[in-house]
Amino acid sequence: MFINGAWISAESGREFPSYNPASGEIIGMVPDGEAIDAHKAIDAAAGAFPKWSSQTAYQRSQFLYRAHALMMEKLEHLAAVMTEEQGKPIQAARNEVRYAADFLIWYAEEAKRIYGQTIPSDRADQRFIVLRQPVGVVAAITPWNYPISMITRKVAPAMAAGCTIVLKPAEATPLCAKAVFEILEAAGIPEGVVNLVTAQTPGPIGELFLTDPRIRKLTFTGSTGVGKMLAREAAEQMKRVSLELGGHAPFIVCQDADPKRAATGLSLVKFLNTGQACISPNRVFVHEGAMDAFINELTRRVSAMKAGSGFDTGVRIGPLVNEAALDKVDRQVRDAVAKGAELVVGGRRMTEEGLDRGFFYAPTILRGVTPEMVIYREETFGPVAPIIAYNDADDLLAMANDTRYGLASYVYTNDLKTAFTLFEGLEFAIVGINDINPTSAAAPFGGMKESGLGREGGIQGLDDYLETKLGGFSI
Ligand code: NAP
Repeated sequence: MFINGAWISAESGREFPSYNPASGEIIGMVPDGEAIDAHKAIDAAAGAFPKWSSQTAYQRSQFLYRAHALMMEKLEHLAAVMTEEQGKPIQAARNEVRYAADFLIWYAEEAKRIYGQTIPSDRADQRFIVLRQPVGVVAAITPWNYPISMITRKVAPAMAAGCTIVLKPAEATPLCAKAVFEILEAAGIPEGVVNLVTAQTPGPIGELFLTDPRIRKLTFTGSTGVGKMLAREAAEQMKRVSLELGGHAPFIVCQDADPKRAATGLSLVKFLNTGQACISPNRVFVHEGAMDAFINELTRRVSAMKAGSGFDTGVRIGPLVNEAALDKVDRQVRDAVAKGAELVVGGRRMTEEGLDRGFFYAPTILRGVTPEMVIYREETFGPVAPIIAYNDADDLLAMANDTRYGLASYVYTNDLKTAFTLFEGLEFAIVGINDINPTSAAAPFGGMKESGLGREGGIQGLDDYLETKLGGFSI
C-alpha cells in the first residue's frame, strides 16, 4: 500500500493473492488492508491537504505533466501488467494505458482554467465574487474491468482541483493499481496527496470512508447495487458523491443503415474487453429489413474471434474475471434459450486447448430476444449479443428507453432526421451515432437514471471535486 509517500504492509501483516484469469495462476501478493490502514491513509491525505490545496494550479499541473510523461514511457510495462492481471488482449491494454494517460495531461492543462465569476449586483455598494475551491479529502473506489484508466479518471481531476485522495482499487486488480501509484510516486507528487489501500474485503473500508468526517467526497465506479448502498450511507454526513454505475446499452440498427457497417461496429464494441464494459451493448434492436444482412455479417465476424491469453497473437476474447461472472453469463444465455431465443453461435464455456484453466466463455449471438428474458433487463458483462427484431420505428424510443439504466447507447442510421430524433429522445447520457467509441478524456462520461450521478472527463469532470463559494462585498 502507498500511504504518505511510502510503500507499507498492512497493519495486520496479512496479504492476499492476485490471479491471472486466463490461467488461474497466482501472479503476486499484496497487503490486505483494513479500516485501520485506511485510517492511516486518511490521516495522510488530511495532513497533506492544506499545503497541496494552496499550491498554485501551475505548480499542481507540473506533477500531472510528469505523471503523464512517465505513464507513456512505461506504456508497455503497464499494458503487460494489465493483460496478465485483468486478461484483456495486449493491444486493448495499450489503448487503455493511453486513455489513462490522457486524463493526466488533460487535467494538467485544465487545472489552470478553474475560473470563478463576478456577478453584477443591484446594489451600487455591493460586489459578488464566486470562487471554486477544492472539496477536501476524497475517497475513491474503482473496479477491475478498466483497472488503470478508472484510477486516473479520478486521481487526475482530484489533484488538479487541489484535493488529496485515498483510493481503494478492486480486489481483482491490485497490481494494476500498484503500477499506477509507482508512477505517481516517481512523478514526485508530495507525500500524502495520493494514497493507495489494497484490500480483499471492501466493506469495512467503505464504511470508514462514509463515516470519517474528514472525507468530504466519495467517488465510486462499480455496480449499481453497491453504488446505491454507498449513496444512502453518504447522506448521513451529506458527503458529496459521484457514481459511475452499470449500464444496459441499446444498439439500434435502423432500416436505412448499412447493415454490414453496423455489424462491424457491434462486433467491435460488444466484444471489447469480452463484454466486460459498462458501455457494452446489451440489447441490439435491428430493423427487420436489415436483419439478414446484419446477422450474416455479425456471425461471420464473431465465429472468427479467437479466445485465449491476451498475450497471444490474434486473440480478441480474453477471460471473464472469475467463475461467478462465467456462471452469470451462462445463466442468462440458458434462460434466453429456454424462453425461445435462437442460439446463433457460442453459448458455452470454452474448455479446449487449455482454456479450461481460465474463465473463458465463447462469443455468443442470441436471436429473437424478448422482454421476458433476464438478459433483456440485467447487465450481462460478458460476450453475448442479444438481437431483437423491430418493425415499427415509432416504438423504437420507448423500447430502447425501457430500462432503469441510462449510460451509453448507439444508433446506426444514414438519415439526419432519425439521427437527431434518437439523439434527443434516448434517455442515455452517451449516444454514439454511427460511432462506437464516443469517449475521450476531453468529454463528459457518466450516466442518467440508475447509471449514476455526476460526470467524469471533460470540464464537467472537475465540477465534482470543487465547491462553489460566493463572496458578497460591501464597499
Ligand atoms: P462492484 O462489485 O460494485 O465493485 C466495484 C468496487 O467497489 C470494487 O473496488 C469493490 O471491491 C468495491 N466494493 C464492493 N462492495 C463494496 C462495499 N460494500 N463497500 C465499499 N466498496 C465495495 O463492481 P465490479 O463488479 O467491480 O464492476 C463492474 C460494475 O462496474 C458493472 O456494473 C459496470 O457497469 C460498472 N462500471 C461502470 C463504469 C462507469 O463508468 N459507469 C465503468 C466501469 C465499470 P472488491 O473488488 O474488493 O469487491
